[in-house]
Amino acid sequence: MKRLLLFDIDGTLTRSHNGYVPFNQAILETFGVPGDIRSVIPDGNTDPMIVTEIFSKGNILVPDIDDKWQQFSSNLRQCYSQAISSGSATVRALPGAAELLQTVAASGIFGSSVVSGNLEPMARVKLEAAGLYSYLCRGAYGSDSPRRADLPAIAKRRCEAVFGVSIPLSECIVIGDTPRDLEAARCNRMKCILVATGRYSLEELLNCQPELCLPDLTDTAALLDTLMNI
Ligand SMILES: [Mg+2]
Repeated sequence: MKRLLLFDIDGTLTRSHNGYVPFNQAILETFGVPGDIRSVIPDGNTDPMIVTEIFSKGNILVPDIDDKWQQFSSNLRQCYSQAISSGSATVRALPGAAELLQTVAASGIFGSSVVSGNLEPMARVKLEAAGLYSYLCRGAYGSDSPRRADLPAIAKRRCEAVFGVSIPLSECIVIGDTPRDLEAARCNRMKCILVATGRYSLEELLNCQPELCLPDLTDTAALLDTLMNI
């Protein structure tokens, strides 16, 4: 393994439908007050920051919020799993994501992992629902730090321990769908590819000047070539 690919989940590898329902349900069950994820722009943010922003925007004061993240994580995983089982929410792999992960795994050159604002148990629920979980080493999540910029270094350390190698920063590539993914990559002196399959258009992402912008992940051969030579 010579290069490490650090994939974002939402908007990059997967797309969820009606995920706001179990998310809002978990807020109510955990904190005892209603909150609506649709009142904020969650893209690229970590789950703890998203919840904090929802409460702050609604002028809702939640006492002892920091004691409740573990419970929120557990409730969210449960609510989301139930919603997926019942079909009221769906998580699907985005076009090309599975093919790309299969191809990079077969190359022997790349290790693939995750940098996501999702709490770790939720990342697993989403990746399993999308059929992508088995391709990805344990990375870093919103449960490791509310600051996304902290996450790439944590994922790199975990992957180095798994693969038993030291990976230079120049060989790490963050792949995401928002300016926040790029910011996290730059804070860690890593390269970044942005895909326009989330909230942001190709033009908006190009303006952020990552190493590469793509409309989606469907051109596996070209993307593999880029990932080897970027
Ligand atoms: Mg994303």
